[in-house]
Amino acid sequence: MMKWGLCALLLLSQTALAGLEKYSPLVVADQNPSAPAPTNAIRVTYLGVNGFQFETDDHALLVDPYFTRVGLWAGALNERIASDPNRVAEGLKHVRPNVDALLVTHAHFDHLLDAPEIMRRTHARLIAGPTAVRLVTSFGISGTSCRAVKPGSAQRIGPWIIHVFAGQHDRLFGKVPFTGKPALSKPVKASDWAVGEPLAFVIEASGKRIYIDSGGVPGSLPDARIHNVDLA
Ligand SMILES: [Zn+2]
Repeated sequence: MMKWGLCALLLLSQTALAGLEKYSPLVVADQNPSAPAPTNAIRVTYLGVNGFQFETDDHALLVDPYFTRVGLWAGALNERIASDPNRVAEGLKHVRPNVDALLVTHAHFDHLLDAPEIMRRTHARLIAGPTAVRLVTSFGISGTSCRAVKPGSAQRIGPWIIHVFAGQHDRLFGKVPFTGKPALSKPVKASDWAVGEPLAFVIEASGKRIYIDSGGVPGSLPDARIHNVDLA
């Protein structure tokens, strides 16, 4: 989802026009964000772009954490890009020190670029498609810290059950960006972070189910086997 920033601005204006203001009471700030998450719920923290932290009972998962924020033109002009350790360190101040796993929906840089640095700092394992796993291991991350997953599988880590589905990447100017072959060695340019296999996840813990995908396409419904979720 490379257009989240723009979408956020649009959503702010569209919310008032789309009747979504009735849901505003559902958006609440934690009284004490540093307190442990409750055992009977999942606390959700938005980390920017498509990044989220999910917490329950002293456990945490990260989805698509991305703190470097490569400039718009660097991506558009396919320049050389790299994870920024200082920005990652700053971003991780908002994240639990112990993270069970990183879930990455697809291999674009705005989802995966910071994964190697975050894995080194948090010792979290990676759950992602084969392309994302291959790109991350090119940075010296051990393959034993990664699980390459396919749609239809389910992963159990601590209190979490993670169901994997095929996802749909959203379209940018009518098409999915960077659909070419990913880098065979360590990725250098923006396009080396090719999309790979877009995935969607249902994250289950503490009796709650949360759906998150690779952006989605309007009019294309998620997999019918996902059934009911509490949050999407
Ligand atoms: Zn993307």
